[in-house]
Amino acid sequence: MSSYWSELTASLVPYVPGEQPKDQRYIKLNTNENPYPPSPKAIKAIQEAANADLRLYPDPTCEDLRVVLADYYGLSKEHIFVGNGSDEILAFAFPAFFSASKPILFPDITYTFYPVYAKLYGLPYETIATDDSFNIDPAMYRIPNGGIVIPNPNAPTARYMLTDYLREILDANREQVVIVDEAYIDFGGESVVPFVKDYPNLLVVQTLSKSRSLAGLRVGMALGHPDLIEGLNRIKNSFNSYTLDRLALAGAVASIEDRVYFEETNRKVIATRERSCEAVRQIGFEVIESKANFLFMTHPSQSAKEIFATLKDRGILVRYFDKPRIERYLRVSIGTDDEMDAFVAALREIAS
Ligand code: PMP
Repeated sequence: MSSYWSELTASLVPYVPGEQPKDQRYIKLNTNENPYPPSPKAIKAIQEAANADLRLYPDPTCEDLRVVLADYYGLSKEHIFVGNGSDEILAFAFPAFFSASKPILFPDITYTFYPVYAKLYGLPYETIATDDSFNIDPAMYRIPNGGIVIPNPNAPTARYMLTDYLREILDANREQVVIVDEAYIDFGGESVVPFVKDYPNLLVVQTLSKSRSLAGLRVGMALGHPDLIEGLNRIKNSFNSYTLDRLALAGAVASIEDRVYFEETNRKVIATRERSCEAVRQIGFEVIESKANFLFMTHPSQSAKEIFATLKDRGILVRYFDKPRIERYLRVSIGTDDEMDAFVAALREIAS
């Protein structure tokens, strides 16, 4: 088929998310979900919201959630925007803050959605070269640019950048918007949210999908100067003024308020990550030090593609990227201790 409209979308190369298989039950370590359920208080709040007012539209300003988030982060509600996952917030941020006149910068190995959004909105971009161990020299962000996106920790590499380096990048780029994507920050990294008050051009994006076990609810948040939040609101209200539904709003509020459960599950994920990292190193894998809920690992002699396929045959799903520079790596989300024990045992048989 070739008509003018089919050609318009044919040039788009959309993001391909990790598998959500339906054919069998896997030990699912492929899309960085949390292995633990959400806070029981969040589930109860969602059930109560389902029994209440679904007949009515939700609050388009998401005020209750923004107030709870403001309290949590020590900011005001004017500093906070919420969206259907951080993906949607990024989708709003690109047209809100970047233009066709100067390139956006992001790492060469990074979250694949960044180039997808850039292409979707016709925005030029340049990539910052990561070294052989996927580190980035912050001085590279001194080249002329029209905005920056830094995932910290980076995905899929798990590389974490110290906040002193992020401050250096922010100091060198005061005119443009700098987005720090902190999807995985709660697993041991230090957030730059406290910098929001010093840098009116800083937008920090976080999510409830990973550390709050709510990937299925689709809630993300952005924290930044009220002018940036206003920019996001203008884009949002040009698409769909009712961002989050009533169930998501209720569940998100209860989840943020349940700090005890959040800290307990994060502690468990981090402890499991550390022992899993040690175990796969003993099998012979090189593993990038991780402050995320996943490991990025490579074996000096064995094919990642083959290990991926053999694990899958055995009912263990991890992530393999058929891409230059990372085709020798596997990304493995941290599961429960039992899941990781099964993964390590299978790996020992396959790769030792
Ligand atoms: N940023 C990064 C770096 C990610 O890896 C992900 C998860 N795939 C997201 C953002 C999006 O997360 P969500 O839309 O579930 O909030």
